[in-house]
Amino acid sequence: MEKIRKAYVRTYGCKQNFADSEKIMGLLLTLGYIAVKTPEEADLIIFNTCAVRENAEQRVFGNVGVLKKLKGDNPGLVIILCGCMTQQPHMAEYFKAKFPFLNAIIGTNILTALPGIIGAEAVFPSAEEIKPLREGEFSANVPIMNGCDNFCTYCVVPLVRGREVSRTPEKIIDEIKGLIAENRRDILLLGQNVNSYKPDFMELLHEIDSLDGEFTISYMTSHPKDCKKELIDFIAESRNISRHLHLPVQSGSNRILELMNRGYTREQYIELAEYAKSKIPEISLTTDILVGFPGETYEDFKDTLSLTEEIGFDSAYTFIYSKREGTAAANFADPVPPEEKSKWFRELLEVQGRISERSYLKHIGKSLRVFCTGEGRSNPELLTGKSKQGIIVDFAGSDELRGKFVDVKITKALPWALVGQLTVNK
Ligand code: SAH
Ligand code: SF4
Repeated sequence: MEKIRKAYVRTYGCKQNFADSEKIMGLLLTLGYIAVKTPEEADLIIFNTCAVRENAEQRVFGNVGVLKKLKGDNPGLVIILCGCMTQQPHMAEYFKAKFPFLNAIIGTNILTALPGIIGAEAVFPSAEEIKPLREGEFSANVPIMNGCDNFCTYCVVPLVRGREVSRTPEKIIDEIKGLIAENRRDILLLGQNVNSYKPDFMELLHEIDSLDGEFTISYMTSHPKDCKKELIDFIAESRNISRHLHLPVQSGSNRILELMNRGYTREQYIELAEYAKSKIPEISLTTDILVGFPGETYEDFKDTLSLTEEIGFDSAYTFIYSKREGTAAANFADPVPPEEKSKWFRELLEVQGRISERSYLKHIGKSLRVFCTGEGRSNPELLTGKSKQGIIVDFAGSDELRGKFVDVKITKALPWALVGQLTVNK
């Protein structure tokens, strides 16, 4: 009998990368592999890497180094690096020289290259046709586009993922219909700038929203320069579109926003955010903030702090700027020392921490519609789910509620989740 071949895929970085890995695993299934949970069990190891920040890259260096021993013990082991980090020629060269035991170093085009590398002879499906092997039972990430045309000056994504390409609405709608039929009703549409989806993002949302049944469609990331008020009006009226808007601001200083090439001003951003809050009072507004962009002064940083206070984000992903080779900002003077940037960063964390805490407290006493996805996050005795605002909600209930929508009255706020009690169970 032929030996079962086992594959281990480790993913770094963003949800897009996780979605790519689900496709990689889906392809490997068609080529006769099964998925395993540790590199030690595997005949094939794939690391799908991230290049957005230096610390993601450092983790890859460390973890690849460890594989040398596995390869030494099992020379037949195949190890492949792919993804955004290895799409950069200087990185690919570096890996080749430093880790000669790697079998292949490919970039973001892994789905077309993989069968050749592992010697598969069968006719294999195109990337569009591969059915991903999805994590989780009731959720799904659905890429609607790839690449980015924006060239924010700090960002490596357009260099490693290339220009924007949208999937056709028909393919996306078909996929979503299939997911709903599988009872995956927590669906996240992915793109670097979903608002510039072609032919039209709002049209796409409209079509999805009118599919039968109850489900939640969220999307990420919305770019403030392209997110229009009409979209917010539409969400306010929609049945199934999430009341969560992730709207990365990056900075509250007009001078820095300009240097970042973000395409909007502080005032325009605030107007959009306030419009969203007024039209959709239950909205959860989250953001990304970048601290220590080259040339940023403490005055600029204070503008970011004041914007953060003024808007009151429900939560924020905060990052210290890290220089990315090939980007425009890599050539900008960057005189502020790292310790100083770290100080600013901690100041921001403190301010945002207080705001997030307050924002979670405001849900206490309210009833939220929650899609139950599994075991409690705060306590395994509870169940967990996601509210229409994308917030994690834990509550007591029986296992048959998994995969169903329920109403939960919120009794307690944790720093990152809510806890409540089941009210009506429709
Ligand atoms: N397309 C999305 C975000 C992509 S990257 C958008 O436009 O918002 C995710 C986040 O990583 C960014 O929002 C930014 O805050 C952060 N990021 C990107 N490049 C970075 C860099 N060079 N250093 C630190 N953080 C960075
Ligand atoms: Fe990077 Fe800007 Fe594109 Fe987002 S919009 S991926 S931050 S270049």
